[in-house]
Amino acid sequence: MSEKFKLISSSIPLEPQSTKLVDQFGRYKRKLRISLTDRCNFRCEYCMPEHPEWLAKKDLLSFDELLKFCRIMVSLGIEHIRLTGGEPLMRQGIVSFIKDLHLLKRLGLKRISMTSNAFYLKKYATELKLAGLDDINISLDSIQPDIFFNMTKKAIGPVLDGIGAAQKAGLKIKINCVLLADQNANEIIQLTKWAYQQRLPLRFIEYMPLDQVEHWKLDKVITENQIIQQLQPHFQIKKIQRTNDPATIYQLNDDYELGVISTISKPFCQSCDRLRLTSTGELFTCLFANTGTPLRSLLRLGQENFLLATIKQAVWYKKAGFIAHQQAPVRKISMHTIGG
Ligand code: SAM
Ligand code: SF4
Repeated sequence: MSEKFKLISSSIPLEPQSTKLVDQFGRYKRKLRISLTDRCNFRCEYCMPEHPEWLAKKDLLSFDELLKFCRIMVSLGIEHIRLTGGEPLMRQGIVSFIKDLHLLKRLGLKRISMTSNAFYLKKYATELKLAGLDDINISLDSIQPDIFFNMTKKAIGPVLDGIGAAQKAGLKIKINCVLLADQNANEIIQLTKWAYQQRLPLRFIEYMPLDQVEHWKLDKVITENQIIQQLQPHFQIKKIQRTNDPATIYQLNDDYELGVISTISKPFCQSCDRLRLTSTGELFTCLFANTGTPLRSLLRLGQENFLLATIKQAVWYKKAGFIAHQQAPVRKISMHTIGG
């Protein structure tokens, strides 16, 4: 582990003293991802089982409960909230929720984002923009209809329409693409050229071991180095200095930025400033954590001081992360429940 990545106290961790959210390694938390639902109309093999068992609706946090949680988190220093899922656009009432979240900008929230498969985006794009959504990450693993269908079990047409509608509505867009060696690995150049021509920022994501059904194998992962090697004959490529962003940024031809999220080959846990809430109100301090901290009953009982202390405590004991163990978490929930 690097010098920068040590416990703040030498051996026995101190309890959190700060009014902000900080963990025992000194990593402040500024970003929160909320899974609004585990439900999804896609069946991406790297994310969820073919026949998922959905959570009971009564167990999901209501929008009022979510808003209360977000207000507390903003008071503790969260500046950026990302809505995800499952598919967030499958949660009824999402537009009003974003309008309510927008009001938290007076209290310190700076950005509201969403990650979506874009299948329903054509219908929602303008409303989302007007409600106060700042930007959207859209998953697009292939632009070849047959490969797209193999990977998601859905047609690509509505997704491309959704991207067009978001562009028209003036939403800031990024495209996310998970690469699998046996599916879309030979599309790296084609996808990059497509995104480059459309002036759509693209981020390749290394396949992570987060599906509950254990599809993941190291030889299915396409790494950052392999991606850049493939692109080298086609673009002038310059690596940009890393920031807190999970993606390593490369400048192509001096006029376009490509990102690669290389959790597997180059974990970036040292700079992790993220927290995650599942739709049932479990706080996960790491994507690879085996367990979360259940907050739903505290939210429902309205015990705000206890809730605050529980959140700070859970964050404080956040572990080093994937960098320390480099293995899949042992837990019942998979990526579609925790939200990516
Ligand atoms: N349904 C939305 C979507 O697909 O964009 C939001 C939820 S999805 C869980 C969020 C992100 O996680 C997507 O970009 C998806 O590609 C990514 N993802 C899911 N499983 C993954 C895995 N095993 N490894 C890497 N990325 C994954
Ligand atoms: Fe659904 Fe997104 Fe998971 Fe694909 S990655 S199954 S679209 S939640």
